[in-house]
Amino acid sequence: MLLLIGTKDSNVKNGFISNEKCPNCKIDNTLNFSIFRRYVSITSIPLFPVGKIVDIQCTSCKNWFYYEDLSLEGQEKLKNEKLDSSLWMFSGTFILFLLLIYGINQYFQDENETDVLIQKPIVGDVYNVKFSNGYYSTFKIDKITNDSIYATHNDFDAYLPYEVDDLDKTENYTDRKVSYSKKELIRLYQNDEIIKIRRNAYSVETQKSEYKIPVTK
Ligand SMILES: [Zn+2]
Repeated sequence: MLLLIGTKDSNVKNGFISNEKCPNCKIDNTLNFSIFRRYVSITSIPLFPVGKIVDIQCTSCKNWFYYEDLSLEGQEKLKNEKLDSSLWMFSGTFILFLLLIYGINQYFQDENETDVLIQKPIVGDVYNVKFSNGYYSTFKIDKITNDSIYATHNDFDAYLPYEVDDLDKTENYTDRKVSYSKKELIRLYQNDEIIKIRRNAYSVETQKSEYKIPVTK
């Protein structure tokens, strides 16, 4: 997703300034104002307000004026205009905050889940691993004995951790057979070489049927 950061103006109030002369045509009660709040947005989602802008126009001579063009009384009147709360301008910040909390929570949940899964590996578990050379890959457990696991290593490596899940396709597990003792697995996990374990609810079934094919030949 493309993130575009910029500012936007939102018209929050319009009205007219009573008992104030136009600085140009000097006619009373002709000045209309519009107050805008400027806010920073990210891809159209408001993050936070950054200030106010005031447009003033005379309905008689149609000239535009700045806030500073008004008499001090006029400026004071504008200043005292009550504006509605603009909490919505923080909605993006609020969303980002929620996402952050969610991310942190998810991170710890993944950690906990992996903590549990590593203790009792089952056939079909997919392990995401990180090599000492900085690359990432996966292996899938084919067989488990009392003290060891037998797995097929993925044919491919990924350079970025988030790419590694895309490698997990059946056709990518061919002939790179590996085996680890269960103790070794735990050690790899403690050394952060095993970074994630995914367990598919149906993986056991799939594995069984795959093994059945040679038997019925
Ligand atoms: Zn005027």
